[in-house]
Amino acid sequence: MSKTRTFKTEVRQLLQLMIHSLYSNRDIFLRELIANAADAIDKARFASLTDPAVAREWKIRITPDKEAKTLVISDNGIGMTEEEVVDNIGTIAKSGTKAFLKMLEEQGGHTADVPELIGQFGVGFYSAFMVASKVELTTRSGDAPAVKWTSDGQADYTLAPAEKAEPGTEIVLYLKEDAEIYLESWKISEIVRKYSDFIAYPIVTPEKKVDENKKETVEERVLNSRKAIWLRKPSEITDEEYKSFYTHLSNFGGTEYLKAIHMTAEGASEFKALLFLPKQAPFNLLMPDIQKKGLQLYIKRMFITDECKELLPDYLRFVCGVVDSSDLPLNVSREILQQNPLLAKIQTAVTGKILSEMKKLLDGDRENYEKFFVEFGRIIKEGLHTDRANAEKLKDLVLYESMNTEPGKFITLGEYVAAMPEAQKEIFYITGEKRNAVAFSPALEYFRKQGWDVLFMTDPIDEWVMQSMFQYQKKSFKSVLRGDFSGEESADTVKAAAEKYAKTAEFLKTELAAEVSEVKFSSLLADSPCCLTVDGAALSPHMERLFRAMNQAVPVSKRILELSCDHPLIQAFEAQLAAGTEAEKLRQYARILYDQALLLEGSPVADPAAFAKGIQELLAAALTK
Ligand code: ADP
Repeated sequence: MSKTRTFKTEVRQLLQLMIHSLYSNRDIFLRELIANAADAIDKARFASLTDPAVAREWKIRITPDKEAKTLVISDNGIGMTEEEVVDNIGTIAKSGTKAFLKMLEEQGGHTADVPELIGQFGVGFYSAFMVASKVELTTRSGDAPAVKWTSDGQADYTLAPAEKAEPGTEIVLYLKEDAEIYLESWKISEIVRKYSDFIAYPIVTPEKKVDENKKETVEERVLNSRKAIWLRKPSEITDEEYKSFYTHLSNFGGTEYLKAIHMTAEGASEFKALLFLPKQAPFNLLMPDIQKKGLQLYIKRMFITDECKELLPDYLRFVCGVVDSSDLPLNVSREILQQNPLLAKIQTAVTGKILSEMKKLLDGDRENYEKFFVEFGRIIKEGLHTDRANAEKLKDLVLYESMNTEPGKFITLGEYVAAMPEAQKEIFYITGEKRNAVAFSPALEYFRKQGWDVLFMTDPIDEWVMQSMFQYQKKSFKSVLRGDFSGEESADTVKAAAEKYAKTAEFLKTELAAEVSEVKFSSLLADSPCCLTVDGAALSPHMERLFRAMNQAVPVSKRILELSCDHPLIQAFEAQLAAGTEAEKLRQYARILYDQALLLEGSPVADPAAFAKGIQELLAAALTK
């Protein structure tokens, strides 16, 4: 009894695109189907470790039929039950589909590179419809009944019971007229060598031979070299090989990598690794699939899992690659394996290697390192908080914009410290949403005057990180939004101002009692009449905004209003108070003064309408004078 089901809307859209829009680089459909076949064999092979009855002579077979115009890709891997077929390729609940469609939309019709990216989104199977007008997939999982899935990629698919002698999956592609080139063995062989050479299982295709009696026989020809690329000498690996291996590994990160890192560890734990630093962050860095996968773990060339989080600290989760251990036990379950203390040793070694390679990049190829850091810096920074053992190394790797850098240019902490004048004792920073939000803060005026640089911390994560960044090269970190920087010599100025403008301070204090905990004078302000700072223990304004954005209740922390010691506006305010100007007006001015300080801090004003009205009235008064 066959059943017909309709595709979900998104899948239908996706299929339409596959069928009608993607013409360039269609070769990759074969890479995707081979990758799926290899994954399925990985799973079966893993099961065979504990259940030898499952073991087979693992193989992926590609069979073109020029008469029927079909291309058949089959594997003897784990197969699927009917339910799994429906889940995996029938309906799609997968996040990848939407993400993929969105990416296509963003490409605005430039689809040339799109096929390359299909694998990243977990929609590889559908790429079959780039070359096929109809696809039949017959599959069997263990002793479950075999099932056949058929679709022309339009609105629906059918499921029917089927016969299949062995577990595994067979996919028949009815090639479109313009895709008949994929019936040619040279073409098949070319694609396999280009994209799938390192696949650990033989990928075979039938080849006619004429024996010595002139009789035609059919033999299987193995198309891939199956060489584990991570076991080879780097000097013997071509760029092309690296690239296709990287594409195979990375479940995100585009098709370009920044750096390939080979590693051979001997001693306490022996392993070889090949790791890649990606060039680009994924379209959506937070897609859950990305977090799930880790490095691929092999034991003695045998694929074990790609979900072994223990191999890498979380903050290096963008690194992809292979670790091939020679001393982890083979025949245990993944769960038990994941508790093996050797994994922690591997993690330590791998982390150390990655950090030292990043340092080399920073020292030797600054331009590319900066680009890399723009992509992954905010993830790397997590390590400053979470990986105490490597905190010092990480501090050497982070980059910041600063008051003295041009927008988009960075300095390291080392460079910051090296440039500190004798008199500067601490590392100063300011936090905020973006460069523009911090660069004009009145709080910077004093530092500019002193010639002391201030780091701009504009990643949301910086606030959190700074909670555990106490020192760098024995210099403490200090937020310019906190605390008093005026030295001994300015105490007199402050005292004089407090006397001279006592009325103003008192008035503002009463007027802004709800928002401001303290009004004081500061010799730090050069061009601005006032600014807001926070008490040492309070949340910073930026942090407060972040919490609010996450819908979290935050205690209202009152600001400290700092007034300039000699700004004309403060002088004028005092004069008005002394002259007994109408209190109502001055109250309004006080509020405007506070609101504009809030804006400069990057926070919203409580009552924008009142603020705007106040400004308008002032403008009107000024213009009609
Ligand atoms: P991805 O492989 O990235 O998950 P695909 O669209 O290529 O996305 O495949 C969807 C799912 O279908 C796979 O995750 C797998 O569970 C299943 N699948 C595809 N091909 C095979 C196969 N040859 N054998 C067993 N399962 C398969």
